[in-house]
Amino acid sequence: MKIICIGRNYASHISELQNEKPESPVVFLKPDSSILPKNQAFVMPAFSNEINYEVEVLVKIKKVGKHIQEKFANTYYDEIGLGIDFTARDLQSKLKAAGLPWEKAKGFDGATLLGSKWLDKSEIENLNQLNFRLERNSEIVQNGNTSEMLWKIDEIIAYVSQFFTLKIGDIIFTGTPAGVGKVEPNDVLNGFIENEQIFTVNVK
Ligand code: ZN
Repeated sequence: MKIICIGRNYASHISELQNEKPESPVVFLKPDSSILPKNQAFVMPAFSNEINYEVEVLVKIKKVGKHIQEKFANTYYDEIGLGIDFTARDLQSKLKAAGLPWEKAKGFDGATLLGSKWLDKSEIENLNQLNFRLERNSEIVQNGNTSEMLWKIDEIIAYVSQFFTLKIGDIIFTGTPAGVGKVEPNDVLNGFIENEQIFTVNVK
């Protein structure tokens, strides 16, 4: 399976005057080897001094598709989740400045946290009005609503499937709202969709 990530998908951190939709979504992939095994702590990697959390709503693909039309996109998923796109920000900044790919900064072992709980979309009243949040040591650090997404889930599926065949089990990270920040050893990160806890992870 592959993990497809959308960058810069939330207007919440852009001032209202600049709140214009970028031309096309920023897309990158994380390898499946980056998935943090269930119930394991996130271990700070030696190559970075600045690991950031990015909480994101996830979509799990349930059937194979290519060139999916937006109006049919919702038939390609049932399960909605929450995860963290851990990012070695210092390394990413260096790579970006040099015009190089970001994979090392976002695709390292453990860099993908998938919440253990998945919600059935039929039980969600409005997928485009979903509140989610990340708590770091019981303090809310990121608070988002899917209504703030520049590209909605169905638009993302239509867009990325022009380039990549979507396969069963692929997971889409739909972008992070404002409030990304640094993690430190001994942190406890808890993720929620509405008032339902989706994950908890310790940092070491
Ligand atoms: Zn991200």
